[in-house]
Amino acid sequence: MRYLLYICIIALTCATIITCNRPPYYATNKIYRQQAGEYAARLKQNPGITANDTLTAAPYFVGTTNFTMRKPNFVVIHHTAQQTTEQTLKTFTLPRTEVSAHYIIARNGTVYHILNDYLRAHHAGAGKWGSITDMNSCSIGIELDNNGTEPFADAQVASLLVLLRQLKQAYNIPTANFIGHADFAPARKTDPGIAFPWKTLAENGFGLWYSDTLRSAPEGFNYLLALRLIGYDVHDSTAAIKAFKRHYMQDTARQLSPRDLSAIYDLMNKS
Ligand SMILES: [Zn+2]
Repeated sequence: MRYLLYICIIALTCATIITCNRPPYYATNKIYRQQAGEYAARLKQNPGITANDTLTAAPYFVGTTNFTMRKPNFVVIHHTAQQTTEQTLKTFTLPRTEVSAHYIIARNGTVYHILNDYLRAHHAGAGKWGSITDMNSCSIGIELDNNGTEPFADAQVASLLVLLRQLKQAYNIPTANFIGHADFAPARKTDPGIAFPWKTLAENGFGLWYSDTLRSAPEGFNYLLALRLIGYDVHDSTAAIKAFKRHYMQDTARQLSPRDLSAIYDLMNKS
């Protein structure tokens, strides 16, 4: 009996040591690998169409030899609206939250890559940019750890610029396709907010910016049509104007000044 007790104590101690030595996020990393494995298996399956009254299925599968992976063509920038990176990592590893991104950048500049770029993160949700409605399927989501009321840390912005350079080069992402969550979903979202340094990003080739010397917009200028051409969903015109102002004027007012109109006119011609 005593020996049995010793064995139980040793087994419990070993289990505790093994558990304690596991790296952080061991359990959720395991789920990640399982899910990625299931998708990999699905990709290897022969595609097939189901014959019906009007469709005749081919007798055998002919796999083409010429293909690559679909790749992201947009980058959507967010702020986490949370206090710490740990808090954000927890949110993105709890299945019930159903939200994620590809990257999180901490205030100190540390970059967490949390999802393979080729997989679809749940970051953009419902919205519209140009004619794109399923932004999650064609974009990389980057979350900047920021509570929404503080300035963005220099180290964080420096890391973001390095990451954006890599992504732009790797996937040949057009300059105009670096946008904010609020640009895509103006009626629902405000991130990354008015403190975000969009001008610095544009100076580095990520996103559009207006010229230093602006020409006046012409008489009768249709600014809503122009916002639409830039990419905004103008179905809710107030939301679209506010999103534009947040991004380009660092201001949340809904009125458009003559300078705002000139900037819209300038950006429309660059889009
Ligand atoms: Zn967001």
